[in-house]
Amino acid sequence: MKFPDSVELIDVGPRDGLQNEPQPISLDQKRELIRRLAQAGYQRIETASFVHPKWVPQMADAEAVAAYCNELGLTYLALTPNVRGLDRAMAAGVPQVAVFIGASSPFNQKNINRTTDEALQEVEPVFSRAKSGGLFVRGYVSTAFSCPYQGKVSFPEVQHVVDRFVQLGADEIDIGDTDGHANPRGVYERFARLQELYPQTVFVAHFHDTWKMGLANVLAALQAGIRKFDGSVGGLGGCPYAPGAAGNVATEDLALMFAEMGVDTGLDLPVIQETARFARSLSSRVCLPTGISGL
Ligand code: MG
Repeated sequence: MKFPDSVELIDVGPRDGLQNEPQPISLDQKRELIRRLAQAGYQRIETASFVHPKWVPQMADAEAVAAYCNELGLTYLALTPNVRGLDRAMAAGVPQVAVFIGASSPFNQKNINRTTDEALQEVEPVFSRAKSGGLFVRGYVSTAFSCPYQGKVSFPEVQHVVDRFVQLGADEIDIGDTDGHANPRGVYERFARLQELYPQTVFVAHFHDTWKMGLANVLAALQAGIRKFDGSVGGLGGCPYAPGAAGNVATEDLALMFAEMGVDTGLDLPVIQETARFARSLSSRVCLPTGISGL
C-alpha cells in the first residue's frame, strides 16, 4: 500500500450536508458551523449554493453566508449551476465555484431536466466567465459509479463529462459516488484509469456511506493516487433518493483514520469531533427527495 505524508480534506457539510434538511437552518447556526470548521483547520469548506431559492430554500441566504466566509478570510466553495448563480456568487466575492453534471443522462433528466450534453452546454458560459474572472472552478461529476435511475454507470459515461470539464479548464474534477453504491475495487480501477488518461488533472473523491463502504472507498482512491477527499462533518447530508440511504462520508471519520495512519490532514481532531456533535444537532436526519441538488 502507498501512504502519502498528507492529504486534503474538504468539508462540504454547510452546503451538501445541510441543503436537504427539511427544517430551516438559521443563518446564525450556519455561521456557527462554518466558524467551528474553520477553527478545526479546514483549508477549504463548501458553504453555499447560488441556486434559485424555490429549488433549494435552505440555501436562500447564500450571499449572507458568503459575506461571513469573507469576514473570516476563508477559502470556500459555492455551487453555481448556471450563469445567474455565477453572477450572484461573483458579486458576493466567492473565490471558488463549482458546477455539477451527472455522468448518467437519466439522472440529469430527472434532476435538472437536461440531457448530459445539454447540461454540458449550459455550463460552458459558467466556466468561461468564472475563469476570466479569475475564479477557481471545480467540476463535479455526480453519479460517477451508479445512478438511482439507470443503475450502474459506465466508464465512458464518466469520461464524457470529465473530458469536457478538462477542455473547459476545470481546476479540479470531483468524482462523486452520489448514491453510495461504489465499491473499493470499482473505485480503485476508475480513479487509476482517470489518472492514466488525464495525468495533469487534479481529481477529488466524494463518497457517500450508504453501504458503509465510504472509508474503504477512500482508501481505495488513496491507493489509486487521489489526495483530496470531500466529507461532511457529522456525516450530514445525502439521503439521496433511496429511503435509509446514508449521508456523505463523515470528515471526522476520515480525519481519525488518516491521523491513526500517520497521514497529515492539518486538522484538530477534538475540535472536529465537537463540531460533528454540533452538526448532528442541526440535522433532523429525515430523508427527503432532493430537487436540484444531486451530488
Ligand atoms: Mg454528497
